[in-house]
Amino acid sequence: MLRCLGCRWLSPSAPPSFFCRFPRLLSGLPQPPVAAMGESAGRGGSAEAKGPKSKQPPSPASDHKDQAYLDAVIQKRVMLFETIQAQQKAERLKLDGEPIKIKLPDGTIKVGKKWLTSPMDIAKEISAGLAASALIAQVNGTLWDMTRPLEGDSDLRLFKFDDNEGRDTFWHSSAHILGQSLEMEYGCKLCIGPCTTRGEGFYYDGFYDDLTLNDENFNQIQSRASKAVGEKQPFERIEVTRDQALEIFAENKFKVEIINELPEDKTITVYRCGPLVDLCRGPHIPNTSFVKAFACLKASASYWRGKSDRESLQRVYGISFPDSKRLKEYLTQIEEAKKRDHRILGQNQDLFFFHQLSPGSCFFLPHGTRIYNKLIEFLRAQYRDRGYQEVLTPNIYNMQLWETSGHAANYKENMFVFEIEKQEFGLKPMNCPGHCLMFEHRVRSYRELPLRLADFGVLHRNELSGALTGLTRVRRFQQDDAHIFCRESQIKEEVKNVLDFISFTYGVFGFTFELELSTRPEKYLGEIEVWDKAEAALAEALNEFERPWQVLTFDYAETAVELMFYVHGHTWHGNGKTLLYTASWDYGLHFAGYMVEVLAINEGDGAFYGPKIDIGVFDALKRKFQCATLQLDFQLPLRFKLSYSAEDEAKLERPVMIHRAILGSVERMFAILLEHYKGKWPFWISPRQAIVCPVSEKSQSYAEQVRDKIHQAGYYVDADLTDRKIQKKVREAQLAQYNFILVVGEEEAKTGQVSVRVRDGSDHSVMSLDALFEHFNKEVEAYH
Ligand SMILES: [Zn+2]
Ligand SMILES: [Zn+2]
Repeated sequence: MLRCLGCRWLSPSAPPSFFCRFPRLLSGLPQPPVAAMGESAGRGGSAEAKGPKSKQPPSPASDHKDQAYLDAVIQKRVMLFETIQAQQKAERLKLDGEPIKIKLPDGTIKVGKKWLTSPMDIAKEISAGLAASALIAQVNGTLWDMTRPLEGDSDLRLFKFDDNEGRDTFWHSSAHILGQSLEMEYGCKLCIGPCTTRGEGFYYDGFYDDLTLNDENFNQIQSRASKAVGEKQPFERIEVTRDQALEIFAENKFKVEIINELPEDKTITVYRCGPLVDLCRGPHIPNTSFVKAFACLKASASYWRGKSDRESLQRVYGISFPDSKRLKEYLTQIEEAKKRDHRILGQNQDLFFFHQLSPGSCFFLPHGTRIYNKLIEFLRAQYRDRGYQEVLTPNIYNMQLWETSGHAANYKENMFVFEIEKQEFGLKPMNCPGHCLMFEHRVRSYRELPLRLADFGVLHRNELSGALTGLTRVRRFQQDDAHIFCRESQIKEEVKNVLDFISFTYGVFGFTFELELSTRPEKYLGEIEVWDKAEAALAEALNEFERPWQVLTFDYAETAVELMFYVHGHTWHGNGKTLLYTASWDYGLHFAGYMVEVLAINEGDGAFYGPKIDIGVFDALKRKFQCATLQLDFQLPLRFKLSYSAEDEAKLERPVMIHRAILGSVERMFAILLEHYKGKWPFWISPRQAIVCPVSEKSQSYAEQVRDKIHQAGYYVDADLTDRKIQKKVREAQLAQYNFILVVGEEEAKTGQVSVRVRDGSDHSVMSLDALFEHFNKEVEAYH
């Protein structure tokens, strides 16, 4: 069982990369690859190596590259490519180009010639503008190069940069430009060059012998890239045999390794742009000239295949856009994210710190604790309104408990385990098993259900010290965890209530969010009927929640994964192919006249103990995080043999368990909020709500009176009793992010008033303390 570090959930069926599925933007790290070049292979991949980045100045490229060798290799590859390409073209010309029908999304039918007409020809026929902006086509559900001839009747769609498909292809193609520049400038051996994830750009790993790249190499790489762009190099595609591939890439042992690992029946494709001939599954944009803006972002060390016993590589990250304005905006956003780093803001605001004597466990200072407690108070108030009951449960349990829950078998290395009186105990990494003990400690009746148990218990997970990062990856944390024990018939209503709770809370924080449903994975536990019913209940809850669900757009034709889709009030199952044959796909998703919603599937990531809803939140910088959890669980109640008596008292039924968290880890949410607000906490949660600044010594005692009254009214208030000038005091108070700055002079003291300034405004108004308190109350009530 693996833990998902984003929502802190345990995901028994997750692949190892599950770790990295969540945005690591807080620490500024790019996300893991989704599609790797040279990945006709579908494997490969190299994780970043740990260790300090070398800062040695770049040496002139000529010191490191063997120009004669490089010229020979490039020439050989291009020659082989051209020979095979010429053969394939000649074979195609022999075909007489029988007519084919090409159907566009709006239903229009165009006529073309088999093996001759390309999506680009169709785009040109429609408009010059479309031909100039369409980056990639989709033919019968498969992504297809714009210039690749059609092989039969086709349903054709075209994508631009603003489409996910277009953007991914754009970045993937940019990786080839980066690879070309790296090879030409440094003579490195290219390894893999995937696009990272949506919104994040791309990288290329290369083997450089003993050369280390850093920021100072970026200009050199970028100017080579702009040369490639200026040359308007077409991306050309050929299919090759394994022997041909091995011959083309004979000098690059990394590519040879990839080729040798390809399955026997795999069609191997090779692409060329300019001097670079690369092993690649494709597809690509038509030519390099679309990449109007290109920048290197970061260079770091990595290992081939991500394994520290393999070759040490250099990884260069890049980003690109179809215009320089977007690049500028992107770079500004990166700068902005750096300014918001919670580790820096937290230090500036004196909120928390870490100590080497307890790695990964945060010390929350008084002001940080105020925020932490406010978050928990907020939830407690909601729990009262929403029918939850808070409980307290132990931190250490005999290993027997973890054996029952399954943690001992799958999760032990992530737990802190120790011996007490010759028996093994473990610190809890999660609250669920404890809540199961609470459910079973006496006879339960259906009348008690749904039973909603909430717990802010302290959890510990044994993260490697090297992986610890600020508040986003810690060893000690609390969750706003709750478990709802309910009957199968109550699932829908409970899920709806949780969705409403999430929506309310994220509304208060100013987050937007999106929903995805993960359904039954290939390997699942339990009965299929139970899964079907539960999935249908989730789908209905989502539908009645009246928010759009994420529509997955991936390669439907190639995917064998089963999809769940929703048609006119019913939930259906089918795989991509069934859908293709039965439905005409477009963003409208019309299915026999009914509205179809594809309930997104996260392949391989559906926890095997029950379906779940993934909630992605977006902060002020539009960065996506996964915090909330909403997971159905049929297994834990089974493992703990939980039951309640039904209406017929002799009949025992098994409850369904819903794990849910809104904030997720309070620590992590603290970090996200700190960055989201850029340290400008809204009044209701602010650790520094007001400060009283006397104009001079004469009004000092009045200032103290005012401070004490505000304190008694329950707000966080300070007084600046130094002898500095009032302008200076106000300025400092603004920098310290006090929401209200109350200036008092002799006049205010006489009339019992305060002169009120807000944190970011220059205006001020004079009001009585009563009026001030009324204002404060309104602010808190509105969560401002
Ligand atoms: Zn490629
Ligand atoms: Zn749980």
